[in-house]
Amino acid sequence: MEIDAAREVRTTCPYCGVGCGVLAKVAADGQVSVRGDPDHPANFGRLCSKGSALAETIDLDGRLLHPEIDGRRAGWDEALDRVASTFSKTIAEHGPDSVAFYVSGQLLTEDYYVANKLMKGFVGSANIDTNSRLCMASSVAGHRRAFGSDTVPGTYEDLELADLIVLVGSNLAWCHPVLYQRIAAAREKRPDMKVVLVDPRRTMTADIADMHLAIAPDGDVALFTGLLAHLGQHNAVDRGYISAHTAGFGQALFAASKLDLAGVAAATDLSEDELTRFYSLFAATAKTVTVYSQGVNQSSSGTDKVNAVINCHLATGRIGKPGAGPFSVTGQPNAMGGREVGGMANMLAAHMEIENPEHRDRLQRFWNAPAVAQKPGLKAVEMFQALADGRIKALWIMATNPVDSMPDADAVEAAIKACPFVVVSDVLAKTDTVRHAHVRLPAAAWGEKDGTVTNSERRISRQRAFLGLPGEVRPDWWIVAEVARRMGFGAAFSHYAPAEIFAEHAALSGFENDGARDFDIGIYAGVDSKTYAALEPFQWPAPSLSTPGGVQAGRDPSNTRFFANGNFYTPDGKARFIAIRPASDTRTNPDYPLILNTGRVRDHWHTMTRTGKSPRLSQHIAEPFVEIHPADAQRYDIGDADIVRISSPRGEVLVRAMITSRQRRGSLFAPMHWTDQFAAKGRLDALTASLTDPVSGQPALKHVAVRLEKF
Ligand code: SF4
Repeated sequence: MEIDAAREVRTTCPYCGVGCGVLAKVAADGQVSVRGDPDHPANFGRLCSKGSALAETIDLDGRLLHPEIDGRRAGWDEALDRVASTFSKTIAEHGPDSVAFYVSGQLLTEDYYVANKLMKGFVGSANIDTNSRLCMASSVAGHRRAFGSDTVPGTYEDLELADLIVLVGSNLAWCHPVLYQRIAAAREKRPDMKVVLVDPRRTMTADIADMHLAIAPDGDVALFTGLLAHLGQHNAVDRGYISAHTAGFGQALFAASKLDLAGVAAATDLSEDELTRFYSLFAATAKTVTVYSQGVNQSSSGTDKVNAVINCHLATGRIGKPGAGPFSVTGQPNAMGGREVGGMANMLAAHMEIENPEHRDRLQRFWNAPAVAQKPGLKAVEMFQALADGRIKALWIMATNPVDSMPDADAVEAAIKACPFVVVSDVLAKTDTVRHAHVRLPAAAWGEKDGTVTNSERRISRQRAFLGLPGEVRPDWWIVAEVARRMGFGAAFSHYAPAEIFAEHAALSGFENDGARDFDIGIYAGVDSKTYAALEPFQWPAPSLSTPGGVQAGRDPSNTRFFANGNFYTPDGKARFIAIRPASDTRTNPDYPLILNTGRVRDHWHTMTRTGKSPRLSQHIAEPFVEIHPADAQRYDIGDADIVRISSPRGEVLVRAMITSRQRRGSLFAPMHWTDQFAAKGRLDALTASLTDPVSGQPALKHVAVRLEKF
């Protein structure tokens, strides 16, 4: 690929779901520099520490540059033939559900689309799931229960227009820093704006909060069902909205009223005074946005938490309005794009439903597909369990590192090792997952590949290449399409390029879509490569279904907010309240008496395969640690900076103790990034359990019973 070295290329950051615009430039000496794109509507020129260090993370050190089979270098033809023939043979012998793809929110939408098309339309199985299952599956499930669609109603601008922002299980300051900066800037201008943080830890985000509710782990369902009861009791609900646009309010309120204030206080470990102050503030503030992320989603009650939040917004009619709404913020750069193309085992492309025969039929006709999947496939945790018990016999892992990041990681590693055929396509040669692959396929990295991503406010932006492809590296969409061609599906996967894949994806979103489905970018169905090359960031729905001129007016939230008219995607057009009763959930026991909460630090990403390359980013926090409350430190005779062992029934890690009253008593926090590769002793996810939310299948990574001792 020819790259114009003199020009700044407009692209997007590959880290979090904020989806910031980046301007990247390659100097004559090959040095890359980046800065925030002042014209991108997500960040208006801002970048956080990770984004601004991107140029330090793109060298070729450690890259996988050539295909490999069984550890030896191979040519593309041989490697692709091996993958295609082994998958075809396995399917012929054991059926389509004997194979699986485990993909990633790091893939571009075009990559995701092709992988999903191959598995769900041509292999005939829905066994494709994504590491986004670990990130926001509970939000997807909660949206679908309440709205009849996986729709994020609001826009980032709502965070600036709100009079009250409630952050639930969301350390925005570290995990979505540019959104935090936008809120901080809005607050400077409007000091009356209030922020409430609901989080067991006093995270850095608490620095901006007027009120920090240091809630008991997984107390959120009780907190928000208590809020619904309070709204009902204090006549703070919008009866007109409830009756015109919703169903199920009576049952939800009845279920909520089973818990009185004292009960909520006991379940949340908050005082009745704290609860009353929060509830009164919420009741009195019409322009309220409730932001939630992994602290809500990564829970065995994650879907109920999401619906408990949405219930309160429906009850007050605070949805689809400027400065008001429930707002799921995604972790990864393209979790949303993956949802759009059906990259999860229980969804079809273009937000169609796998359980719906009309949707399956529509997909079959659009793709002219020989074998559309007829039932949901295995979700991430189930997929690796099926690998362990031999039901999955061939697995293709794309752009993710499950040996380090899946819960119960040692069991996942053992399952991968035992699988007869494992393919990994990745940018790196030596991750803990790549080393178990029979076939290794070198994939293009950020800066080398072209495509689109969708951020948390439904904004689709281009990622553009500004570097050539090194070695024999190829984009993921090309690799999948080549395997599809060799499996005999060439007609449906030939003549592909990112623009053509995007145009097909757009056409599918508008195909027989008369407004009954939320996701519609059908106006781009005929996009040519020139238009695609120049594509400006835009929010869906694109203008075919929204206010005329919506793309051009993308910064005007009145054109891009969902549900402003009170119509939802359920059969009767009404949103659904979900009747929820908080369940008590005691996971600790005398052997494992503490609750471990896992998460991120400010300057690292996932398993550090990229951010670990930047000395600057490692300066912030140089080694793995665990936050311990002073009383717990005293109880276990642990001093600050001591090395401690954390163990669960599944494994153990050694990390450094950080004693801080920001942590709750009885709880620990440790970041998930470090692995043995980065000087840690043990992987944190070897401790976590495969317990999942029963609706979403998302693992409960923030509530693990563990033991702590000085090493
Ligand atoms: Fe990248 Fe997220 Fe930082 Fe923006 S906030 S620069 S998308 S990591």
